[in-house]
Amino acid sequence: MSTQRGLLIVLSGPSGVGKGTVRSAIFEDSNCDYVYSVSATTRQRRPGETDGVDYFFISKEGFEDLISQEALLEYAEYVGNYYGTPLASIEESLSQGKDVFLEIEVQGARKVRERMPEGIFIFLAPPSLNELESRLTDRGTDSKEVIARRMNKAKEEIELMSHYDYVVVNDQIHTAVNEINAIIKSEHLRVERVMNSIQADINAYFEKEANQS
Ligand code: 5GP
Repeated sequence: MSTQRGLLIVLSGPSGVGKGTVRSAIFEDSNCDYVYSVSATTRQRRPGETDGVDYFFISKEGFEDLISQEALLEYAEYVGNYYGTPLASIEESLSQGKDVFLEIEVQGARKVRERMPEGIFIFLAPPSLNELESRLTDRGTDSKEVIARRMNKAKEEIELMSHYDYVVVNDQIHTAVNEINAIIKSEHLRVERVMNSIQADINAYFEKEANQS
């Protein structure tokens, strides 16, 4: 029987909603068997980050080469840096039947939706805008002005929610993780995904019966 193609799972949502934290929690679980799509970026490596694990940290020129070679599924410029999803490793994993997990910002998710509409698009939403503002303030990395700009941007980004298949509210991390895993599990049980293997079983049974009679 041929291998069932893996699922492409895209987790996105506004800046500051906790996409990275939720994604790390998903991958910390030893039962997690999704393949994380490591992005390429031109931003500086932060302490504790590993090249090839958290990101492929590359130069602007290197990134522009990837763009011209059409080696990226999507890319976006975000706060002055490029971020992009390498295409080749995704295709390889999907064709091996592995589920591939992308955690990207909303412009990128939009482009993936255009190119791979069969993906599963999950929007991570903040419990409230007040909570989002507190999270951005608690990060301590942005001025009041920048936070105000990010809040306006978040409003626009939240309005893009209708382009997604599912919404998960990131109130408690473990609840968000469980909900995302439940979504992926049910997507595997869709009739169109399961039907082929059941049909193959039926065919094999009746072929055997016919050969025996
Ligand atoms: P950070 O610099 O905090 O690691 O990531 C900044 C933003 O870039 C986050 O919203 C993250 O989801 C997003 N991001 C990470 N990788 C990619 C990618 O390959 N493509 C796009 N479009 N966004 C990405």
